[in-house]
Amino acid sequence: MKKWVYEFHEGNADMRPLLGGKGANLAEMTNLGLPIPNGFTVTTEACTDYYKQGKQISQEIQDQIFAALGVLEQQRGKKFGDESDPLLVSVRSGARASMPGMMDTILNLGLNDVSVEGFARKTGNPRFAYDSYRRFIQMFSDVVMEMSKSFFEGILTELKESRGVKYDTELTADDLKELIGRYKAIYKEKMGAEFPQDPKVQLMEAVKAVFRSWDNPRAIVYRRMNDIPGDWGTAVNVQSMVFGNMGDTSGTGVAFTRNPSTGEKGIFGEYLINAQGEDVVAGIRTPQPITRLAEDLPECYAQFMDIANRLEDHYRDMQDMEFTIQEGNLFFLQTRNGKRTAAAAMKIACDLVDEGRITPEEAVLRIEAKSLDQLLHPTFDAYGLKNGEEIGQALPASPGAAAGKIYFTAEEAKAAHEERGEKVILVRLETSPEDIEGMHASEGILTVRGGMTSHAAVVARGMGTCCVSGCGEIQIDEEAKVFTLGGYTFHEGDEISLDGTTGKIYKGMIPTVDASVSGDFGRIMAWADSFRKLRVRTNADTPADTANAVRLGAEGIGLCRTEHMFFEPERIPKIRKMILSDTAEQREAALAELLPFQKGDFKAMYEALEGRPMTVRYLDPPLHEFVPTDPADIEALAKDMGMTPEEVQQKCDELHEFNPMMGHRGCRLAVTYPEIARMQTRAVMEAAIEVKAEKGYDIVPEIMIPLVGDRKELKFVKDIVVEVAEQVKAEKGSDMQYHIGTMIEIPRAALLAGEIAEEAEFFSFGTNDLTQMTFGFSRDDAGKFLTSYYGAKIYESDPFARLDQSGVGQLIELAAKNGRATRPDIKMGICGEHGGDPSSVAFCHKVGLNYVSCSPFRVPIARLAAAQAALEDK
Ligand code: PEP
Ligand code: MG
Repeated sequence: MKKWVYEFHEGNADMRPLLGGKGANLAEMTNLGLPIPNGFTVTTEACTDYYKQGKQISQEIQDQIFAALGVLEQQRGKKFGDESDPLLVSVRSGARASMPGMMDTILNLGLNDVSVEGFARKTGNPRFAYDSYRRFIQMFSDVVMEMSKSFFEGILTELKESRGVKYDTELTADDLKELIGRYKAIYKEKMGAEFPQDPKVQLMEAVKAVFRSWDNPRAIVYRRMNDIPGDWGTAVNVQSMVFGNMGDTSGTGVAFTRNPSTGEKGIFGEYLINAQGEDVVAGIRTPQPITRLAEDLPECYAQFMDIANRLEDHYRDMQDMEFTIQEGNLFFLQTRNGKRTAAAAMKIACDLVDEGRITPEEAVLRIEAKSLDQLLHPTFDAYGLKNGEEIGQALPASPGAAAGKIYFTAEEAKAAHEERGEKVILVRLETSPEDIEGMHASEGILTVRGGMTSHAAVVARGMGTCCVSGCGEIQIDEEAKVFTLGGYTFHEGDEISLDGTTGKIYKGMIPTVDASVSGDFGRIMAWADSFRKLRVRTNADTPADTANAVRLGAEGIGLCRTEHMFFEPERIPKIRKMILSDTAEQREAALAELLPFQKGDFKAMYEALEGRPMTVRYLDPPLHEFVPTDPADIEALAKDMGMTPEEVQQKCDELHEFNPMMGHRGCRLAVTYPEIARMQTRAVMEAAIEVKAEKGYDIVPEIMIPLVGDRKELKFVKDIVVEVAEQVKAEKGSDMQYHIGTMIEIPRAALLAGEIAEEAEFFSFGTNDLTQMTFGFSRDDAGKFLTSYYGAKIYESDPFARLDQSGVGQLIELAAKNGRATRPDIKMGICGEHGGDPSSVAFCHKVGLNYVSCSPFRVPIARLAAAQAALEDK
C-alpha cells in the first residue's frame, strides 16, 4: 500500500518534493528536537491523485489521514470532536516552493456547537473558547467554502457598533456567542446548509480546499511567472493547535534571522501578546518588535533566540520563522529559507561566504537569477504600493516600476517630457518603430495589443524601460485620447502607474525607488563569471545600449538588428525611397544615401565595443513596416520622388501582405534586392576597417543572414557579401578577416542545418521566429488566446518567454548536432528573447551552445543563470 501520509518524525528536509517545503521543515525541526506541535503531512502525491480521481480523495488516503489523526489524539491525550476536551488542529497548505496565492491556513478546526462548550470549561476561559469558534467559522467559510469575508466582517462591525466598542478584544463571551449564532445563520443562508458540525467532515473539506487551491487562478499565474510545474501539487499539514491568545503569557509572531529587505545580520520581526496568527497579519493591533519579547517574556526570548540561531546554522541560510507562545511555552510552527529582496539576497550570500558557512559556488546558486531585474530597475516604494489601487493586469513585458501622466502619441509623450519635464506613460494600441523617441522619453509603456516579443516589448527591454503589453481589457480610442480600464476612464494627462515585473496597472502615481547596485553584486557576478561555460552577449543596435550592456558584463553583441537604425527621422524618408523605387538604379541611389548613416552607426558600435565582437544581422522586417501612413509623410515622400501622393499611396498598398511575418522579409529581401545586402556589406566592412585602423581593435566582422531556409538561399546572399567584402578590402588595402553565418529561425533550416553549415560559419538561433513558426502562433498576438491554454493546462508557460524545450528545443538540438557534424568548429548561440530567461539559458548550456545573447538589462541574469547551469551540471 502506498504511503500518502507522514507523521512529522517520519520525514526530513530532503523530502520537500513529497512533503512540500513546510512539511519537510516541520519534519526536520521535529527530528532536531525542537518544540513543534505534533502533526502529520498529507503528501503532494495525494494532491496529484486527487486531481487524477476527478477531484476526489480516495478511500485509502482518507483512511491514512484518520489513522494519523488517531496517533495525534494519543500523543495529545485528547479526542477529535470530544465534548469535554476536544483536540483542535490547524490545516495549512505547503507546496514544494512557497507559493502565495494558494490557500494558507485554517485554525481551530474541530470545534462545533458542543465541543466549544467543553473547550470553554476545560480552559476555564469561555471568552477565549467562543472567540476561537467564531474565528474558525469565519476562516472555514472564507477559505474552504469560498464565502466572501465581507459577510462576516459586516456582522462583526455591526455588533461592535451596537456594543459601542472599537476592538474585537472588547467583546464579551456573551457577545461572541451571539456573533457565532449570527455567523452560522449567514452561513446557512448563503450555503443552503448548516455549518458542518462533524469535525471529520470539517477536516476532509479543509484538505480538499487546500488541494483545490493549487489550481486557483492566482496560483496558476504565480506558477507561470515562477516556472513552477503544474503537476507538482501541494501537500497539506495538519498540526495540533497551540494558542497564542490565552492571556498575557501567550503570544504569536514572525521573525527573520536577517533583515529580508537589506540582508543585514540580526533578528528582525514582530509579535503580539495575547493573539492568534491572523491578528499579526491583519494589522488591527500594532505588533511589537521582536526584541521587546526580551522584556515581556525573557525566558521565552532566550529560548527563541537560541533556536533561531540553531536553525540558521542548520540550514546555513536566513530563516523566516513563525512561532506561538502558549502560557509561557514556546512553539515553532514553521521555518523556511526566507524570501528576500535581490539586494538582501546578494548581501546575505556574500556574508555567509565571509562567515565560512557556504562556498562561493553555493552563494551563486542561492541567488534567483530572475530577481536581478529588481536590482537594475526602479521598484515601487513599498508603502506607496500598499495603498495603490490595482485596476488591471497584462503581460509583464519589460521589468521595472513606472508612474506618470498618460499620453497617447509618441510625439506628445516626447514633448511633455522634454518641454515640461513631465514623467510620462505612453499608452498605445500597439507601438511601431516610429514611436521610438516617444518610448525613450517615457517612464513606462502600456499597450493594448502585442505579446512578449512584440515591438513594444523588445524595444522596451532593450532600453530598460518598463512595459506592460497586451492589455486586452482596455477600451481605447486613440483619436479621442481616452481609455477605460477597471471601471475608470482616463484622459490625456491623467496619472497611472505600471509594474513591468508583474504586469500590474495601478490608478494614480505610486512613488518609485531607484535601482541600486551594491558591491556585493560585483562579487557574486565575478564568481558567476568564473563558473560559467556559456558566453554572454547582448542584443543592441545603438552605441548607448551597447555601452550599457558592456557595463553590465556583455562580452559582445550577438544580434545587431540593422533595421532599427533606419527609423530615425532623417533616415526613414531614404529607406522609403528605396522601397518605393521601380528600378535597381533608383534603389541603388536611395541606398547610397543610406550608406553613410549605416556605416557611421557601425563605426560607433565598434567603438563602443572596444574590440569585443559584433554579429550584424542584415535587414529583416517586411518592407511595409517602413511605409508612411501619415498623409503629411506621404506628401513629402511624393514630392521627393516626383510622384503624386496617390501614386505613393498606391505603391504602399501594393506592399500589403496577408501574412507579413511569413512574407517578403529576411534574406528574401536580399534575394530580390541584392543591392541592399551590397550596401550593408560595404557599410560593415568599411566601418570595421576604419575603426581597426583608428583604434587598433582587432575586429573580425560577423555578418548574419536572417530567415534562411535552404543552403542555396544562404549561398546566394553569401556570394554577394563575399564579392563586396573582397572589393572593399581591395579598395582599402586591408586583409581583414570576416565570418558569414546565418540565423536558424525557420524549422526547415533547423532540419537542414547539416547542409546549411556547409556555407555558414556560425548559427544563431532566432528563437522568436523559430517559436512562432514551430507553434504556428503569431508572436504578436498569441497572448490573446494563451491564457485559455494555461487555464486548460495545455501549455503552462508562454513559449515566447520560456523556451519550449520539448518542441522548439528538439529542433535546436538537432540543428546543433548536424551543424557540428558538418563543421566541427561551428560557433553557435541564441539571440531570441529566450537568451535572457534562466531556464532557457540552462537549456542552451545543456545543448552546448557557445553563447546566449539577450537585451542589455538581462545580461547579468544570463551570466548568473549560465553559472548556475554549469554548477548544477557538476
Ligand atoms: C528571432 O527571431 O528570434 C530574432 C532574434 O529575430 P527578430 O526578433 O528580430 O525577428
Ligand atoms: Mg527573427
